[in-house]
Amino acid sequence: MKPVSKSNRSKSKKPVRALDFGDRWDYAPAPESVRPKIKKQYELFIDGEFVKPHSSKYFNSINPSTEERITRIAHGDKSDINKAVKAAREAYDKTWSRMDPRERGKYLYRIARLIQEKARELAVLETMDGGKPIKESRDVDLPLVAAHFFYHAGWADKLKYAFPRRDPQPLGVCGQIIPWNFPLLMAAWKLAPALACGNTVVLKPAETTSTTAMHLAQILQEADLPPGVVNIVTGEGGTGAALVEHPDINKIAFTGSTEVGKRIAASTAGTEKKLTLELGGKAANIIFEDAPLDQAVEGIIQGIYFNQGHVCCAGSRLFVQEGVYDQILRKLRTRIATLRVGDPLDKNTDVGAINSKEQLKKISSLVQCGVDEGASLEQSSCALPEKGYWFPPSVLTDVTMSHRVAQEEIFGPVLSVMTFRTPEEALQRANNTPYGLSAGVWTDKGSKIFKMAEKLRAGVVWANTYNKFDPTSPFGGYKESGFGREGGKHGLSAYVRL
Ligand code: NAP
Ligand code: MG
Repeated sequence: MKPVSKSNRSKSKKPVRALDFGDRWDYAPAPESVRPKIKKQYELFIDGEFVKPHSSKYFNSINPSTEERITRIAHGDKSDINKAVKAAREAYDKTWSRMDPRERGKYLYRIARLIQEKARELAVLETMDGGKPIKESRDVDLPLVAAHFFYHAGWADKLKYAFPRRDPQPLGVCGQIIPWNFPLLMAAWKLAPALACGNTVVLKPAETTSTTAMHLAQILQEADLPPGVVNIVTGEGGTGAALVEHPDINKIAFTGSTEVGKRIAASTAGTEKKLTLELGGKAANIIFEDAPLDQAVEGIIQGIYFNQGHVCCAGSRLFVQEGVYDQILRKLRTRIATLRVGDPLDKNTDVGAINSKEQLKKISSLVQCGVDEGASLEQSSCALPEKGYWFPPSVLTDVTMSHRVAQEEIFGPVLSVMTFRTPEEALQRANNTPYGLSAGVWTDKGSKIFKMAEKLRAGVVWANTYNKFDPTSPFGGYKESGFGREGGKHGLSAYVRL
């Protein structure tokens, strides 16, 4: 890799400690060889067809690791949203809600199998468009995408067992808005339960990562899904709001920033629209002195640096019990220095590119703010490519609870480290945030795990592991992290009327 552009490292006057592992030997490059077929331009997917946008406008989708244009994406406006909602309503009334649930299940199985068949190509595309390492998209995202369709396919004709003595009925037309950090996986989280329960959908992908959604549209066509059951309307501003405000929508599901989530909550208030929100997080990872320390460090690294910290449940705050603080920090520094940052398509890469220029700016400015407020910054001295959007894996110490970096979501490869003495203090500090999506506890003692899990105000608590997902397990937040659950039986209830 070419030597470093220093541009996106901290410009503070306070010295930044460089984390370096000395003379380490390098792996030979191992670039992914599969190349997906990418069209020059993608249209909207409405009523089973690819159609040109009403505005005739297109926007670029960029590869954030090279800043090269991958393709052009159609910009859908209000008139396209109207068309899509109309198609979804018709499909709901005439086909999908009336179909034998076993038949609906068969479509979902077919979609799941097609995703498996094309998994490699989809993973490469996800990595090119979003910047995440191929290791992640290939080994985590895509298997989970297929698993979500398989899991919900199984529920389609068994809903009355999920809700015994009730009569679960679909809601109607669902508007779903998804973020850029897990583009296909978020599409699967939203589409699979909605379809299994007999709803139809208008989906709005994130503007920086719409390409795999359009490949999913091709898969839906290939699976012969009846026209209008799923409509995908891409756009870069105004499209999401038009969907949320459409009067003929029965349910809105949104994953993204708390700010937009609040706007959506305000705009759906007083309407009949059902709403689920999955917003940001500021997860605490808590390490007790009795924890298996090496395992804990590995979990922490995975929880914040893999995927560039672009994870709403990223373990961005680390609370270490005082007695092992020095030891943990030493181990962390060594491990951070060996993280491989660079070409996301290289199979050895741990940390890929930041999703967009805007996100890079946001990360840099929040880290700078942390330094200005008195935190000490340590950064990997790894070489960063000249082109693209990169941020070196970073650690902030001397952080206090009132610092912005301890309170706000950074959504980047930045860990804020703090300490605690007693379990009570750890709980009090971990819960001291407007968010409540996830948390991690590292200890050798089962009783401590239960005690902490019970009192942590977080939707998910992982114990001696981190960022593990499964379609059978519900996911969602407390407080400003949102409401409603996705996955498992709980997730189904967001898409039925009982
Ligand atoms: P964002 O602002 O939350 O979401 C943008 C999406 O929401 C776009 O698709 C946009 O569609 C739509 N939208 C905007 N205003 C809307 C409105 N009033 N009604 C309905 N939809 C609306 O995400 P971002 O700007 O990409 O990221 C900002 C921050 O969000 C990140 O830094 C990170 O902290 C957080 N984030 C969280 C998650 C998560 O998983 N919880 C994921 C990604 C990002 P249009 O383009 O059509 O307006
Ligand atoms: Mg992109």
